Amino acid sequence: MTIHRRHFLGSLAAAAAASTVGAQPENPWGGPVIDIHFHLRKTPQANTAHLDGCGVSNAVLLTGVNALDQLHATQDSSPRRFVWSASADPTKPEAVRLLTDAVKSGAIGLGEIKAHVASDGPELQRLYALAGELNVPILIHFQEVPHYDGEGVFSTPFKNLEAMLKAYPKTRFVGHADAFWANISADYANQSAYPSGPIKPGGLTDRLLTDYPNLYADLSANSGNNALSRDPDFTPAFLARHRDKLMFGSDCSCSDGHGGGISQANNPAAARLAGKCVARETLTVLKKSTSTALFRQIAWENAHTVYRITSSTLS
Ligand SMILES: [Zn+2]
Ligand SMILES: [Zn+2]
Repeated sequence: MTIHRRHFLGSLAAAAAASTVGAQPENPWGGPVIDIHFHLRKTPQANTAHLDGCGVSNAVLLTGVNALDQLHATQDSSPRRFVWSASADPTKPEAVRLLTDAVKSGAIGLGEIKAHVASDGPELQRLYALAGELNVPILIHFQEVPHYDGEGVFSTPFKNLEAMLKAYPKTRFVGHADAFWANISADYANQSAYPSGPIKPGGLTDRLLTDYPNLYADLSANSGNNALSRDPDFTPAFLARHRDKLMFGSDCSCSDGHGGGISQANNPAAARLAGKCVARETLTVLKKSTSTALFRQIAWENAHTVYRITSSTLS
């Protein structure tokens, strides 16, 4: 585990050194980028093909606790590129033990946790507590509108997250998905998965990010991209206001970092990104809406702070 972490940190040092001699021409984003929402793919090549295709240097591999061989194959084939976050089914009694073991083996976070349970129910509360005890962030999928018949909902109701932020002040929560991002607007009432049009200031998500130092945000997926794209007058100030809280992620399922393969499968409501690479689209809107320093903070630095990817983790 130490080896994997050290390899990754080596890349941070290399990237820092590179930045002192200016932007690398082969890097489309002007500097290193870490994708905090990258689901582990089957082969090492499939993982690096996406990163290379969209110009992303590093990723947090979201990995089920039963896929550690796959994880290690990918880490070993590309030293200095990947760290990982562990996921398990929160409804299973062994979840706490499996996730604890994963963190002891080098996982730097819990999640993505995506399950048909209450946002304030016992299944998630024991994981919120565990994340606090283990001093790692926990990434949660919040969704109240199904994408297709029978999909169901996840971590509901979103509004009860506030009580959890209060109850677990030492836990670093990372919010993600439809309900988290739709509630950026004060007029949202579950009318659709991805509301469009101008954002009404004062949305619950905006307020929670302001009021709770233990809440962070994952900009991944159509949900995050939609929130940043729907109202260009709102976006720059939102990004600046929460500059310490926001982290780039893609949750992209394209194969090549250019929108190839099956993108947005089983989610017709996300058709606006069909055939596109979510990573590219979201990095483009971020680039357009931020200063160079703010882009670097959201695309690179904040993940290191929130996930404690620092030299102290070497000890
Ligand atoms: Zn998700
Ligand atoms: Zn992609």
